[in-house]
Amino acid sequence: MENRVIKSDKEWKEHLTTEQYLVTRKKVTEPPFTGKYYNYKGDGIYRCVSCGNPLFSSDAKYDSRTGWPSYYIPVSEDSLELVPDRDGVRVEVLCKKCGAHLGHVFEDGPQPTGLRYCMNSTALDFSQKDAK
Ligand SMILES: [Zn+2]
Repeated sequence: MENRVIKSDKEWKEHLTTEQYLVTRKKVTEPPFTGKYYNYKGDGIYRCVSCGNPLFSSDAKYDSRTGWPSYYIPVSEDSLELVPDRDGVRVEVLCKKCGAHLGHVFEDGPQPTGLRYCMNSTALDFSQKDAK
């Protein structure tokens, strides 16, 4: 991907809130049913809170009843990087542009993909679809 965003740990710490830093750089999972987007139904795009990379459309969002915002497909395959989690079980989802930890992907989502991209609200930044 073009224009990868590379910052030092110190720079990220300055750029992000403490909560955003812990989730996106230290891979802390926010408690379920606490994030601002798990039950959010706005019409628009969810971007990476760290770098603004477009990640998910509200069209792909569904209620997984897990307490985290869940999507069955990303805006583009190019926007995400999927890597084996260090727990050896799950698949971790990173922002391809800046390497931010976003959440995990599971294979129990709805069709047509059968995937559940389980995200931390804290890692996302919603922007409303242009009303015009
Ligand atoms: Zn990013």
